[in-house]
Amino acid sequence: MDLDELYREVILDHNQNPRRRGRLADPSASQGLFNPTCGDRITVDLQVRDEKVTDAAFDGHGCSISTASASMLMDSIVGRPVAEARQTARGFIDFITGKSEEPPPGDWNSLAGVRRFASRVKCATLAHNALLQALSEVEAGRTHPNDAS
Ligand code: ZN
Repeated sequence: MDLDELYREVILDHNQNPRRRGRLADPSASQGLFNPTCGDRITVDLQVRDEKVTDAAFDGHGCSISTASASMLMDSIVGRPVAEARQTARGFIDFITGKSEEPPPGDWNSLAGVRRFASRVKCATLAHNALLQALSEVEAGRTHPNDAS
């Protein structure tokens, strides 16, 4: 098995067994995005407490690239500080769009092939953009505290 095959295995695995697929009951923030060029729809739900992503889930329908990418992202951010989750999302977007040569830590290199297909970049980064917007939503909420819990 060469490295390319191994990477395809990772994508296949995340498609067959998406991690953290579904919706959260009471998310701190929720962000849905649509990629019209491919038809991918992804909603990211986040639970954030004390600057930490305590839970996350994604839902929607999309191609294998968008699903694998969303599944990998959810898997990599739960239990991590918000700043790290943001770094992972930004780092991956920079890697896929060719702004950086180094993927963030994790299995992200498995999606490196997408860099050669400009039309698929939106598929691979849809969940990451949804996550960044959801994190901004959490931050905006903090300036108007709605602290019932
Ligand atoms: Zn797609």
